Amino acid sequence: MTRSPTLAHGRGYLAIPGPSVMPDAVLQAMHRAAPNIYAGELVEMMPGLTADLKRVARTQHQVAIYIANGHGAWEAALANVIAPSETVLVPASGRFAHGWAEMARGIGAEAELIDFGKSAPWDMDRIAQALRADTGHRFKAVLAVHTDTSSSVRNDIPALRALLDELDHPALLMADCIASLGCERFEMDAWGVDVTVTGSQKGLMVPPGVSFVFFNDKAAAKRAAMPRVSHYWDWAPRAHPDDFYQYFGGTAPTHHLYGLRAALDMIHTEGVENIWARHQQLAEAIWAACEVWGETGDLCLNVADRSYRSHAVTALRLESRKGTALREWTDAHLGLTLGIGLGMAAPDDPNRDAYFRLGHMGHLNGHMVLGLLGGVEAGLTALDIPHGKGALEAAAAVIAR
Ligand SMILES: *Cc1c(COP(=O)(O)O)cnc(C)c1O
Repeated sequence: MTRSPTLAHGRGYLAIPGPSVMPDAVLQAMHRAAPNIYAGELVEMMPGLTADLKRVARTQHQVAIYIANGHGAWEAALANVIAPSETVLVPASGRFAHGWAEMARGIGAEAELIDFGKSAPWDMDRIAQALRADTGHRFKAVLAVHTDTSSSVRNDIPALRALLDELDHPALLMADCIASLGCERFEMDAWGVDVTVTGSQKGLMVPPGVSFVFFNDKAAAKRAAMPRVSHYWDWAPRAHPDDFYQYFGGTAPTHHLYGLRAALDMIHTEGVENIWARHQQLAEAIWAACEVWGETGDLCLNVADRSYRSHAVTALRLESRKGTALREWTDAHLGLTLGIGLGMAAPDDPNRDAYFRLGHMGHLNGHMVLGLLGGVEAGLTALDIPHGKGALEAAAAVIAR
């Protein structure tokens, strides 16, 4: 049987919003024999590793490392500062905020959710109302998802800090930066964030499996006042380890640490601010193309206002409901894998096939983004999906800027 020819052979391109493309330097750093976990290079590497992690998050405070994905870090962060029956406030611009709220409920806390839907940023007035009404300071923390990867809405964390300060509300400000750290501006200390949660497999370019919780003195004080904290999630020994084992509550994720070391070297060689600028320009190229496609076609960017769009992921909808078909086409014919729509429609909603996402986080550059956009253009053409003409020129003009 002869198979039909396809243009999918060659190096594939995974353009989903995590896990992101892994740099060769990260892969090569991981391709080695098991190291001694009791002495030597790996053990000696740790102080520099945590210092360099903190530089990415822009914090002078503490970091705890978990052998877990982002969901694990969500729970770890909560377990240290939120006791059962305490309440958290969760402003939501997408599926991931709901997920973190569910995690809080899972440890016995109450989560009060303010739902701004699936394409709108936080409405600060409504958050202010909720905080003002909380005269007894029932809210012990506000769970703030910086970039909600499902909707690609990026929310304004400094504005939330300003609001808490203005109302003199003592709740901890806890930020989920899993989709933004290492992609766009995030400054834990300057922004007054008390707890920051992130994972390895997005802007940090390392395989999924390790995650990080950064916390400041105010959060450490709340931790110290907790009736108890589950031993595995407890961040205190991880941040102040007497021995190497304590960093991880057991055996270290040896190869992830080597990969992370290589990724941090790349990040600090390029410069964190240069990385933010790169992501911004590449995102603007993507938006330029999407806006042209959408002019006369059925493609629609999920977030209308550019100032609330993530620089790391773009959620899109096709009115013709051909989002799934487009993904399948680019994957089968080009070796280009686009992201699924996430949390935008229920499984029985006929619109579920309308949504898809472009991941543009981490290890990517101008030619990859132009290839990504060219691949989408080919798919729109092949599937007779109406679209405005000139999208690639518009993107190239941004890249050429
Ligand atoms: C990816 C992501 C998560 C979940 O991380 P996992 O590693 O998949 O558990 C949570 N929040 C945000 C904003 C994310 O992008």
